[in-house]
Amino acid sequence: MPGTFDYVVVGAGSAGCVLANRLSEGGRYSVCLLEAGPADRYLWIHIPIGYGKTMFHPVYNWGFHTEPDPNMNNRRLYWPRGRTLGGSSSINGLIYVRGQKEDYDHWAALGNRGWSWNDCLPYFRRLEHNELGAGPTRGVDGPLWASTIRQPHALVDAFIAASNRLGVRTVDDFNTGDQEGVGYYQLTTRHGWRCSTAVAYLKPARHRANLHVETNALASRIRFDGTRATGVRFLQHGEMREVSARRGHVLSRDFARTLSEAKWQSIVLGSMGVLIGLFWPAALMFCLIWLATAFTTRYSSLSALVAAFITPIFLWWFGHLALAALSAVLTLLLFYAHRENIKRLQAGKESRIGEKA
Ligand SMILES: Cc1cc2nc3c(=O)[nH]c(=O)nc-3n(C[C@H](O)[C@H](O)[C@H](O)COP(=O)(O)OP(=O)(O)OC[C@H]3O[C@@H](n4cnc5c(N)ncnc54)[C@H](O)[C@@H]3O)c2cc1C
Repeated sequence: MPGTFDYVVVGAGSAGCVLANRLSEGGRYSVCLLEAGPADRYLWIHIPIGYGKTMFHPVYNWGFHTEPDPNMNNRRLYWPRGRTLGGSSSINGLIYVRGQKEDYDHWAALGNRGWSWNDCLPYFRRLEHNELGAGPTRGVDGPLWASTIRQPHALVDAFIAASNRLGVRTVDDFNTGDQEGVGYYQLTTRHGWRCSTAVAYLKPARHRANLHVETNALASRIRFDGTRATGVRFLQHGEMREVSARRGHVLSRDFARTLSEAKWQSIVLGSMGVLIGLFWPAALMFCLIWLATAFTTRYSSLSALVAAFITPIFLWWFGHLALAALSAVLTLLLFYAHRENIKRLQAGKESRIGEKA
């Protein structure tokens, strides 16, 4: 793999696939696209009803959980996110809906230039191949298909009729900016198959010599030269590798993952700092926790695992027997708490067999 590109895009999800396609269009710039998950070769990704299979899949889904939410009786809610080419567009519910015009205009009014409904509309039209045909808010020449549901259901029809009787109007197209009403949504399918952004944007661009795609490539660090991002380190098949970018990086990893990592890093590094100030054996113990967490939550390498197990031995060596025992117990607890991640790591390895990056 050549090590230097014009652009490095991290995350081949809904946004990443579009960016990789558009940046590599015309052949002027070289682009490297890094995706933490494997290729989207699992059949159920492509069959629309297959989201029942991918909803809890240990390889193709990150399977996050929220923190306990006081407004939800302190429950932790399941938060699925796609982990493959196409990202969440490979596992989502396929409902094609842009949202309400007023929301866009509100974002623009808050100072986000370029986000008003009218600013976005040309891009909406450009991206879609809408089966309802061309119109002021619809496009027909784009790669992402918006298909009309072909099998209406008697119960849905009865619901629509009942709503009409109550004065709620029927809406044939929920993407005109005004969603008020009742009707059938369109789906992001093409000839009955899921049309993820990997299918719509990445597949047609894969043959380009200036686009390089790496799967099973978990980006873990961005190298900076001053304020300019110049390289990305990533873990692939147990090895740390690096790519450099001449022009720029685009982070299109989903926000849920970014949040969870940032939270862990700040909590753990903060605790370490305080404890180093107090006394060093405890600092060592917290290093252990950090390393174990780093390993089990998949943003570090095998060396972290080794280091985690060495720490109790160090503590024992220096005569801190109680701390050594405590740190060993903590390591085991951490590994137990993250056993699903570890299983997923193992499953990820299996899924890589025979896969071409
Ligand atoms: C189950 C489910 C159902 C949904 N249903 C609908 C629906 O019906 N209609 C609708 O409009 N929206 C739906 N959504 C939401 C929609 O799919 C998402 O909002 C959208 O796909 C998010 O796009 P994104 O590019 O921000 O992130 P994603 O598409 O999630 O892409 C992020 C990518 O980055 C990768 N990544 C993360 N961290 C790293 C790293 N460190 N290194 C390398 N790669 C990394 C991930 O593996 C992933 O491929 C649904 C989402 C889910 C999960």
